Formats: sequence, C-alpha cells, structure tokens
Amino acid sequence: MKNVREQVSQAASRGIYFNTGNGPSIQPIDIGHKDYIGLVDPEIAFWSLIRKDRLSEALDPDGPFMKQVQAQRAQFGEEMRRLRFGLKPTAVYFNPTDRCNLNCTYCYIPEDMRREGVTMEPARLLEALGILREFFKPVLPEVVKPQIVFHGAEPMLAREAIFAGMDQYKDDFRFGVQTNGSLLDAEAIEFLTSRGIGIGLSLDSSIAEVADRTRQTWGGSSVYSKVCEVLEQLRGYPNYNVICTVTAQNMESLNSVVDFYHDHQVPVCMLNPVRCTRQGARDIKPKDEELVPYYLAALDRTEELYKKTGRKLVVANFANVLVGIVAPTARRLMCDISPCGGGRCFFAVSASGDLFPCSEFVGVEEFKGGNLFEGKIEAALDTPAFQMVTGRKVEDIEPCARCAVRHFCGSPCPAEAHEMNGGMDQPGAFCELYEQQARYALRLIADGRESAFLWDGWDKETSTDLNITAISDPGC
Ligand code: SF4
Ligand code: SF4
Repeated sequence: MKNVREQVSQAASRGIYFNTGNGPSIQPIDIGHKDYIGLVDPEIAFWSLIRKDRLSEALDPDGPFMKQVQAQRAQFGEEMRRLRFGLKPTAVYFNPTDRCNLNCTYCYIPEDMRREGVTMEPARLLEALGILREFFKPVLPEVVKPQIVFHGAEPMLAREAIFAGMDQYKDDFRFGVQTNGSLLDAEAIEFLTSRGIGIGLSLDSSIAEVADRTRQTWGGSSVYSKVCEVLEQLRGYPNYNVICTVTAQNMESLNSVVDFYHDHQVPVCMLNPVRCTRQGARDIKPKDEELVPYYLAALDRTEELYKKTGRKLVVANFANVLVGIVAPTARRLMCDISPCGGGRCFFAVSASGDLFPCSEFVGVEEFKGGNLFEGKIEAALDTPAFQMVTGRKVEDIEPCARCAVRHFCGSPCPAEAHEMNGGMDQPGAFCELYEQQARYALRLIADGRESAFLWDGWDKETSTDLNITAISDPGC
C-alpha cells in the first residue's frame, strides 16, 4: 500500500503556488488569539503563527513564509513519513492476568474476563519474557532496552509472577506497572521503588464520593483512601504518574484533581478522556463542548501552580499534543499520531499469551493476531488483525482527511472508531476536544508559554523513544 508521500503526481504543475496544482495545501486556522492566526501545511505538519495584520504578506508566493515551506517540505515530509510508517515495536503491554479486584464502570475489558479469566503462573510468565527478549534482540540496538509495562486488568493480582519477572530479566527490559493501586502494600512499594520501576496509578478525583462513582470493588466498596495512602507513600518518587479518567461524572472537579495531584508532588499525570469502547464508558461520556472548558481550565491551573511553586505537574497526554506540534519526533505517547502506536510501536499480550495491537483490543477476538507461545511474533504483527489498526490512516477518515490538525491529533482511537462509531474509517470519540487542544497549544506557543506544560528535557530527546514506563499510554 502506498502512503501519501510515496504517490507520484503526474500533473505538470511545478508546485510553486500553494493550494493549486502540485503546490502545498496551506490551511489557515483560527487559534482564538487576538494577534495571531495559524497557517498549517497539514500533510507534513508544518505550521507557522502569523500576525493577523501580516497575513497577506505570508500568503505571497514569493514571500519568506512560502519560501520556508518550499525549502523544508521534503525534510518535514520525510520526518513525518518515518514517524508514521517507519517505526518498530519497542514496548509491550503485558497483561499477566485477565482478572481485576475492581469493577470500574468504564473498563474496556469484558466483564466475564475480569471476573473469571486466567492468571499466568510465574513459570509461564518467565517463559513469555524469554520469548519477548529473543524477539527484541534483532529488532533493537543493544543499548536500547525494550519496555514491558504490566498492565490491566489488575497486574498486582499476579504479584509473585511479575516481581519474579522483574528480577530475572532486570538487565533485558525496562519495567513498568500500571495498577489501580489498591493492592500496593508497603513491601510492594519498596520492591518497585528500590528497582526504579515505573508506576502508573489510577485515581479519578480528589473527592471520595466522586472517585467512587466510577472505581469500586465488585462488592461496591471504595478504594479511594487506600489509593490516597499509596500516593502519600510515593511522594518524591520520580518515576510515577497518575491517570485521571475524565467522564461526565468528574469533569466539573478537574481543577481540584490538578491541585490534589500537585499537592502530593505527583510529577506527571494524564487527564484521559474516557475510552468509549464499551457501553459502560459511553454512558458517562461527556459531550466535547461541555468538557472542553473544564479541561482547558485544568491545564491553565497547572501553569498557575507552576508559577506559584516552581514545580511542574505535567499533563502528559496534553504535553504530547503540544510536543507533537513543536517537535514531532520527541513525542512520548503514540495515540495522537496516525496510524497510532498500536501494533507498530508496541503490542499487547494477554494472560493466555494472545497478541493484540493494543490493550484496548484485549478480548476482542477479531483483533487477535496470534499467540506468544504458539507462533512467531513477527507473523502476528503482519496479520490482517493487526493491519486493521496499523493501516488505519487519517487520510481515509472523514472529516479527518481534510482537517488541518490531523497530524497533531491522529484521530484516536481505532478501538473507539470500531466499537463505538462502526468502523476503522470513522473518527473516535472526542474530535472537538482534540481540535481545542491543538488550538490551545498554538495559543501557548504564540504567547511563549509552552515550556510550563512540557516535561523537563523534552527538547534534548531527539529520538522517538517510547517512554511508556514513565508515562503509560492507553488509559486504565
Ligand atoms: S489506546 Fe487507541 S489510539 Fe492509543 S495506541 Fe491503543 S488503539 Fe491506538
Ligand atoms: S478527530 Fe477531529 S481534530 Fe482529530 S483529526 Fe479528525 S477531524 Fe481533526
């Protein structure tokens, strides 16, 4: 299949004028700024902020803006092509158990799996890590350690197995664990922090009653206080993050979530709009236009706190959109790029060893590419099941194909497109939220405020190194 950059135009146009013939398509976008407007060449994610009173100068085909576009088009196009089609897997979301001790209303894993599914025995898990190590050896340079993120359901239900794996394969992988936090006792915290393991927790509110609306045990008990205790115990630990899944039930208190995380010295958080793959999630999906004001106010609040205290709380999923604009190859998460990272930058392993493009598809038979113990991983990555995800491109999706911010948004998420909107050629659940995040990001850049929202050292990272133990990707 040819991607857009490989297609050769037969048109005689020399491409010296924009928006006609073979010239670049330049789209103006309103960013909601009093002085600036955005001009974007969406195909290569090239953009510039132009003073509104100098727009006609910028649109002059012989002017400096157009010259810059023409001079850098090939390089930007190649960078984008590599990012979109040239990466290899560097990470695995490893679900050591199908089961969970909680019954979150929006969970994307089928209920019967979470209640009665299998859990890997320690020996089986060690065998699985051995297979993964062999797979990565020829794929990655020796200096790059692949990442294994033990993911949910609830990986701490397989504590003995994952801790054995972390110790036996400590020289082969960088490890992380994405957990609901309710099973982390002092001994487990000591084990993980003394080894520098990345820890991702989930907590949806600073208010117990709000947090309990979505995250409780099967019997309806709260785990809010327990997770807060863990937050307290992790104070000062640099390698952890907290995910807040944003729904109609907590969006109004997002500012207090930000305050709460910042008070607890959480270094990185994610404000992830709920993944709408299942009905339980769709029932509490906020409307974009209702969510956006709360969402952007929460981002504003992180900047206020930074100014007041000198300490950042990075909202990683927004920071990723921002860095995708400023320096696309420094992205850390791979949801807001098309095709997304599922099946090409990482893949997921279920507790039975089944291989899926991303955790979001675990349990959906149609997306199973094979089994870790029964066939080659390379073959699974090449199956139609995986290609449905790795071949999903914004160019094939309406209205994304003509959207100026399509390469800052990536039209996530294929799992939502498939489960909620009826097919891979459909957009996901939160188009307007992404539109608004891109506009907000460009406003920050226009005002020189962007560094308050980015992790320290973002500009030193030149490779697309998927650091998902520091910042976990698919929401849980
Ligand atoms: S969560 Fe969705 S958008 Fe993100 S990597 Fe997985 S399938 Fe892709
Ligand atoms: S989902 Fe919306 S914002 Fe994202 S690329 Fe598609 S049209 Fe653009």
